[in-house]
Amino acid sequence: MEAVRTCLGCRQRAPRSSLVRVVARDGRVVVDAAARLPGRGAWVHPGSECVRTAIQRKAFGRALRATITDLTSVEELTTLEERAERPMDD
Ligand SMILES: [Zn+2]
Repeated sequence: MEAVRTCLGCRQRAPRSSLVRVVARDGRVVVDAAARLPGRGAWVHPGSECVRTAIQRKAFGRALRATITDLTSVEELTTLEERAERPMDD
């Protein structure tokens, strides 16, 4: 059975394959696409809604127990939603 994590944005529990893991590194939130980086991780649905909600709530800093000054790579996740809505070829 697949592990379930809670999305920082919508607070819904979801299988980890539908979420993206992020970790804190030197005040930056780094997207851990392979979910292999050590340390405390947080999970969020890629796409603008959950990511923006998490940013507005300052949920990344709380979940990662770090002071976050750079959310650049997380903001890039907000663009994934449109990509995911396109029909897949495979
Ligand atoms: Zn979510």
